[in-house]
Amino acid sequence: MERKNIWNNYTEKDLKKLEKICKKYLDFLSVGKTERECVREIVRQAKEAGYQDLEEIVEKEESLKVGDKVYYVCMKKTVALFHIGEKPLEEGMNILGAHIDSPRLDVKQNPLYEKAEMAYLDTHYYGGIKKYQWVSMPLAIHGVVVKKDGTAETICIGEKDSDPVFCVSDLLIHLAGEQMEKKAAKVVEGEKLDLLVGSMPLEDEEKDAVKANVLKLLKKEYGMEEADFISAELEIVPAGRARELGFDRSMILSYGQDDRVCAYTSLDAMLEVDKLEKTACCLLVDKEEVGSVGATGMQSHFFENAVAEIMNCMGNYSELSLRRCLRNSRMLSSDVNAGYDPLYYTYFEKKNASFCGYGVVFSKFTGSRGKSGSNDANAEYLAALRRMMDDNHVYYQTAELGKVDVGGGGTIAYILSLYGMEVIDCGVAVLSMHGPWEVTSKADIYETQKCYVTFLKNA
Ligand code: MN
Ligand code: MN
Repeated sequence: MERKNIWNNYTEKDLKKLEKICKKYLDFLSVGKTERECVREIVRQAKEAGYQDLEEIVEKEESLKVGDKVYYVCMKKTVALFHIGEKPLEEGMNILGAHIDSPRLDVKQNPLYEKAEMAYLDTHYYGGIKKYQWVSMPLAIHGVVVKKDGTAETICIGEKDSDPVFCVSDLLIHLAGEQMEKKAAKVVEGEKLDLLVGSMPLEDEEKDAVKANVLKLLKKEYGMEEADFISAELEIVPAGRARELGFDRSMILSYGQDDRVCAYTSLDAMLEVDKLEKTACCLLVDKEEVGSVGATGMQSHFFENAVAEIMNCMGNYSELSLRRCLRNSRMLSSDVNAGYDPLYYTYFEKKNASFCGYGVVFSKFTGSRGKSGSNDANAEYLAALRRMMDDNHVYYQTAELGKVDVGGGGTIAYILSLYGMEVIDCGVAVLSMHGPWEVTSKADIYETQKCYVTFLKNA
């Protein structure tokens, strides 16, 4: 089967729309570098589009009707959006599900120390990273410090031009003979990923004067004590905005595109659709990179609870109706695929790899090796999606994640499939996935948004 680059199919009008979506996407990436920041931005956009807080509706015992739009936030890190369609919920929903957490370095709970008159924050990495990629580059601190009295300080240092940044140092090449002989996994080990945060001693302080000075500054800026690190969630991420990439500006380079590229296009599609037959749902969840665990991960019951509340607000909740609703739903697990990298072509099987600039990617299954841990979408479902995409002029490709014996990966697809609903992985091809800066094609972002709109309207 021949597959083609799609750039030359675009009219002026297409290119205009493409640039508009990608411009908004660049902003989204730049304001949302943590799951909390993403939830804040998603809720802001949803409210602007007429969405209401489901919790408030439940509290006031108000009812919901066809056409209503609600959002449901779980612990400020996961959010579900619903747009009620004309058909009864029992007939199922059309669901888009992406994740908004990305690999990074988290600050430990007792992190601050001084060594040789340098102050450091000790970190614990989150998700799958090549540790050696995180040294010698500008890093920012994003997150929240919750004090004992319950008040919270939002932290974001390293993004404004006037802000300082932070870094993890690396051994100079001149002395790295032994280091360079090590395996890549050991070149920089997890406990070496400590963030350099200061070097100026506090006057008249005898012991750990540099650390004391950092604490003084934290107290002044954020009113925080050292013990407040215990109840903080601080994430270390690459500093700086998302950028256009290439002479032709055809690509985007940014931190966190796995999976904010699918989160953004899902959100944008969700906010665009109107007058729906089936209820549309958009899940933007936390903890995918560590196995979808915890209260804010996809394995949590927050989603089921939200659907139950909605049914209740519509006056037709029962255990059986809820089960029917979930079973009859269809889902696109919106997550990224490994884009074919010509520099590393030996790890891909070209006929079944995704290419940047070839359109949205469908993956019938994920998992690794003998399809272990895979959600395998039904042929019937794929046939329906092919029809839907062709009828609506969406360019798509199909792909696996690399060669069969090489490795693999998973998404939240298998979790939703447990309800007995149809689920398939569908998203954007990415280069340097899980690297501090990941690459996507603007054409794929445009097609993915179109795909998601088409799905919500027609599935
Ligand atoms: Mn992902
Ligand atoms: Mn990932």
